[in-house]
Amino acid sequence: MRLHDLKLFNTLTRQKEKFEPLSPPRVGMYVCGPTVYGDAHLGHARAAVSFDVVYRYLTFLGYKVRYVRNITDVGHLEADSDDGEDKIAKKAKLEQLEPMEVVQHYAESYHRDMELLNTRKPSIEPRATGHIPEQIQLVEDILSQGLAYEENGSVYFDVLKYNEGTKYGRLSGRVIEELVSGSRDLDGQSEKRNALDFALWKKAAPEHLMKWPSPWSLGFPGWHLECTAMSSKYLGQHFDIHGGGMDLMFPHHECEIAQGNACNHQDPAKYWLHNNMITINGQKMGKSLGNFITLQQLFQGDHPVLEQAYSPMTIRYFILTAHYRSTLDFSNQALQAAQKGYKKLINGFRISGMLTYTEESGVSIDENQIEQAKKSIQAAYAAMDDDFNTAQAIGHLFNLLKKINSMYTGQLSPSVFGKEVFDQMISTFRSFVTEILGLVEEKMDAQEQLLKLLLDLYQEAKVQRDYRRVDEIRANLKSLGIIVKDMKNKIDWAYEE
Ligand code: ZN
Repeated sequence: MRLHDLKLFNTLTRQKEKFEPLSPPRVGMYVCGPTVYGDAHLGHARAAVSFDVVYRYLTFLGYKVRYVRNITDVGHLEADSDDGEDKIAKKAKLEQLEPMEVVQHYAESYHRDMELLNTRKPSIEPRATGHIPEQIQLVEDILSQGLAYEENGSVYFDVLKYNEGTKYGRLSGRVIEELVSGSRDLDGQSEKRNALDFALWKKAAPEHLMKWPSPWSLGFPGWHLECTAMSSKYLGQHFDIHGGGMDLMFPHHECEIAQGNACNHQDPAKYWLHNNMITINGQKMGKSLGNFITLQQLFQGDHPVLEQAYSPMTIRYFILTAHYRSTLDFSNQALQAAQKGYKKLINGFRISGMLTYTEESGVSIDENQIEQAKKSIQAAYAAMDDDFNTAQAIGHLFNLLKKINSMYTGQLSPSVFGKEVFDQMISTFRSFVTEILGLVEEKMDAQEQLLKLLLDLYQEAKVQRDYRRVDEIRANLKSLGIIVKDMKNKIDWAYEE
């Protein structure tokens, strides 16, 4: 295992903490996955990519990570209330489908999009509907602790009673008195004793589509319950990392902490990590604002907000250019800059694979160059060790890239670094690009073969001094986004940056 002083920001303690797994080298990580009733959008991409990098980096350091990310396929109600509509059922009724057809369709499209973004699959991807008995058991446990009550076939978590023993609101920094005074009064119709109480089990209305038998009613579990059931089943009652989007911190994760403490008398996870949101041209993304863009629309360039299509790797790179806890604003300008950045790195990746170390006679070691290279290597790791700061790590990779480019064009001899440092530079750069940041070349397949043929013709035309032809090939390739790299002893190509 690589020895690194990895620190991560724990939302629960609001501090950067040294990462010390509960039972190394094993790490348990649970991330709240999508509710599958619509196409994946940038918000889904940011959460998936952010935790993919956490997963990748921990794995890279040598930890054995069990990464669990659920799929919410119970048609739960609105996130922060116990009424409102069931989104999966709404879609099912609208399209005259079985709810499970809706779930199947959108789970598949989510997987397709996440694969395009090159996120690694979780070790376990459990579904809420596959864990109904476990959820019923949790409700019974909480009832037996006296921290929940039944009312007309529904069961609610008693937040005020719980708060007498364990403070509610620690994760989001909320104070119970303020929550109580800020919550709307119960209208008399409600079965809840207090507006803060949340459903553990809901009796289903006759028209409700997804329902299961339970000791209390034919109904369905409250949304927060599934993550407690699935995380404790696969990772234990107290595991290492719990992640999710910042919008899930309250009430979802707060409720998970309450449920975990009610059942097991401890917080479910040691470290809580939250990725920030993506705004669109400075605004919150929302269907009513007309700026709701799905990933497929981005990939196709098919939305009025978009000036062009953006490839999956451009989106991935864009997400990585900000630290996961910072906000990230989408704009065409930012995406176009990301496209350039991605292509620069991937061009560097291509050529770093072609460079070989040869001892050049007459070239001596350059201590200054060595020091610069070592500094960039260390700084790239230090950035990742500092709460997975991909934005800074990328900056240091660009410093390495400058040297790689200079060696490629022949302006800098690999000999100045000596073999050891040269190898370190190349391996660090390549590991970061593919293993840690998860950026891959967006292959052109057969096109690449054709490209080689064209470059041969180009070479031939050059030898024959047929400059009209040379210019023609050059211009045609440029129109396809390919730049001919004409160097002293070789001809190569690169993506236009
Ligand atoms: Zn969850």
